[in-house]
Amino acid sequence: MMRRKNGNKHDFTRMGTRKKVHAFVRVKPTDNFPHEMIRYGDDNKSIDILLKKDTRRGVVNNQQTDWSFKLDGVLHDASQDLVYETVAKDVVSQALDGYNGTIMCYGQTGAGKTYTMTGATENYKHRGILPRALQQVFRMIEERTTHAITVRVSYLEIYNESLFDLLSTLPYVGPSATPMTIVENPQGVFIKGLSVHLTSQEEDAFSLLFEGETNRVIASHTMNKNSSRSHCIFTIYVESHSRTLSDEKYITSKINLVDLAGSERLGKTGSEGRVLKEATYINKSLSFLEQAIIALGDQKRDHIPFRQCKLTHALKDSLGGNCNMVLVTNIYGEAAQLEETLSSLRFASRMKLVTTEPAINEKYDAERMVKNLEKELALLKQELAIHDSLANRTLVNYDPMDEVQIAEINSQVRRYLEGTLDEIDIINLRQIQEVFNQFRVVLSQQEQEIESALRRKYTLIDKNDFAAISAVQKAGLADVNGHLVGEPDGQGFGLGVIPFSFKPGKKIKSKKTFKDQLSIPVRKEGASSPLSTKELDISPSKTQLILPPRDGDVKDMRDRETSSTEPFPSDSPKEELRPPRPSTPPSKPVAFEDFKNERGSEINRIFKENKSILNERRKRASETTQRINAIKQEIDTTKEALNVQKALREKQGEYENKGLMIIDEEEFLLILKLKDLKKQYRAEYQDLRDLRAEIQYCQHLVDQCRHRLLTEFDIWYNESFFIPEDLQVALKSGCSIRPGMVPINRVVSLGEDDQDKFSQLQQTMLPEGPESVSFYNAKVKTEQKHNYLKAITGLQQVNKK
Ligand code: ADP
Ligand code: MG
Repeated sequence: MMRRKNGNKHDFTRMGTRKKVHAFVRVKPTDNFPHEMIRYGDDNKSIDILLKKDTRRGVVNNQQTDWSFKLDGVLHDASQDLVYETVAKDVVSQALDGYNGTIMCYGQTGAGKTYTMTGATENYKHRGILPRALQQVFRMIEERTTHAITVRVSYLEIYNESLFDLLSTLPYVGPSATPMTIVENPQGVFIKGLSVHLTSQEEDAFSLLFEGETNRVIASHTMNKNSSRSHCIFTIYVESHSRTLSDEKYITSKINLVDLAGSERLGKTGSEGRVLKEATYINKSLSFLEQAIIALGDQKRDHIPFRQCKLTHALKDSLGGNCNMVLVTNIYGEAAQLEETLSSLRFASRMKLVTTEPAINEKYDAERMVKNLEKELALLKQELAIHDSLANRTLVNYDPMDEVQIAEINSQVRRYLEGTLDEIDIINLRQIQEVFNQFRVVLSQQEQEIESALRRKYTLIDKNDFAAISAVQKAGLADVNGHLVGEPDGQGFGLGVIPFSFKPGKKIKSKKTFKDQLSIPVRKEGASSPLSTKELDISPSKTQLILPPRDGDVKDMRDRETSSTEPFPSDSPKEELRPPRPSTPPSKPVAFEDFKNERGSEINRIFKENKSILNERRKRASETTQRINAIKQEIDTTKEALNVQKALREKQGEYENKGLMIIDEEEFLLILKLKDLKKQYRAEYQDLRDLRAEIQYCQHLVDQCRHRLLTEFDIWYNESFFIPEDLQVALKSGCSIRPGMVPINRVVSLGEDDQDKFSQLQQTMLPEGPESVSFYNAKVKTEQKHNYLKAITGLQQVNKK
């Protein structure tokens, strides 16, 4: 049985229902049916061909003489009615549910293919599958009042690899200017240029069929075509839309009714004994069809040669694939035709190996979808309105925002960023999205402003633009690391405070020297015998290591240390006493030397101390190792000497006293010595293990110190040469981030903007008198601090993420 309609395409595919092609045999009636040669199985599903030993063939005796073919049904003496019921009815009815269907008639010329497919056009009772299929389609459409179903038909003939439109003679079609071509697209295969005719009733469809049949006959005469060599494909296209407008899905399908060319073959040798000789098709395209069928039946083949000829190409999506497929093999019930009958039956059994996976061709009606969505949207808006009125939220608008509303949100965002607006009220989702949008707009505007402000004052060079950097370096404007060291016009941007450690005139050191100073020493300990962490006894009491101060330790440090330099600038009260800044900051290597001697001297001292402890421990470890090696050597020689003594004793004969062995003094001393050496060895080894643990710990501290030294230097460098003094002053000790830790461009831009403001204020307010300056100065500084704290809070949040 054919599958019944199933939910939708996806369900179907998921179930992966595969089914075989249905293959039937129809035997053409004859008066002298060879019962001894052709036998049907009791279930009417198998057919056996039995050949009596052919006396004429004489010599060949060992060849097969019996064949048995298992099929889906043998139609013997079957009426057109029964043939239709058996072969086509289900395929057609499933086509209206969206499944493609293909029915093909195959067989030698005169075996009844056309009779089966088209039938006798002059006798209604003997009409074939084609007119009956059309009738069934229209009958079902009438019954299916829930759907609007359209039917179209086309009639194609393939002769000698040329395509002919059997319906092109209709007055409204007219001859095509370009030859027809077979086109493939995701929806399937179609014939470009082939006329397709909408038919709203049975009668129209029949007219088209007759038109085509007439053309077939005429063409065979006028164009000298041998009609038995042509393939004819009549296609019924069905499109079914639900009359329920909310149903967006619709289905399409097509039924291909194929009347193939005669399948007779040519023997390779003479006519004698041709039954068992290899024979080839007269019609080449049938040979390609057979190849395609063999490939389709072979589960291992993934390439099917569809494009070898027009026939298989045109039928590409109708052979196998997702359609219901039926083959009717027409044979003669006559002894004289047994040879061709055998070939036809072989083809039929090959076809039976082909599996298909019928699936509904489901599509979506875009127009209906839009309409339905619009309806749903309107409904939801109403729903929201009700909800709002219940929740006392009046005047909430759910339509897209207009320019005025967006501008209002933009201004809210700006005020919020400035701090003049504490909160932005949430109204609805659209508004929230717009708020975020405007945040982005404002942010990018600010970025641009910052950049252009920077560009007004400085020459910005791309960090990766090496050519530009080297040019600037040549001009003496940038250090070796590509850091810009001032402005092209040579004017400082701060208030001109020089860091107290800065010594003008110092030469820039080479890159190598700087790197060398900061290079991390290669660790060598632990290379000879790695110790597991379990063995490590890390007790700080064993060493006199000094930990570098953390931010929180600053105060302790200052209490403890007597050093004249203040290690950290943030809470230094002597900030104001700094010498003025240089117009051009020193290069980093130079500055680093200064930093180590002055501001960073404390960290540097700790760093150096730890390093020297580390070196001392390393030295001791190496000495211990040497001692261990010496002891080991001595142990070995002592052992050897003992062995010699022992051998000597054994040679001389052993003395025993009450079960105790008696040994001489020399051997005894050697034993004592060995014992002592082993003890020493163990002790030294233990020392070495402890030392290694200390070295590891110490190394860690040295690394920490180095890192801290560099970090402090960077901060100091920024603060000393790049961050405006005002801003540093503005920052009170309450903040945990130090000015030098803030990315320089942010700090500088803030400073600059504020400075601009300051000069503007000075210009506009001076008329009030010089005493107003300090007032406004304070005001500006407060604002600066405010902005700066905001920037830092922002940064802290960014860092948290
Ligand atoms: P084909 O198309 O295979 O070359 P046709 O369908 O043209 O063969 O059949 C050849 C002749 O045999 C036609 O005159 C047709 O009417 C007749 N014929 C074929 N099959 C039957 C059948 N089952 N019953 C009656 N006549 C048949
Ligand atoms: Mg025919």
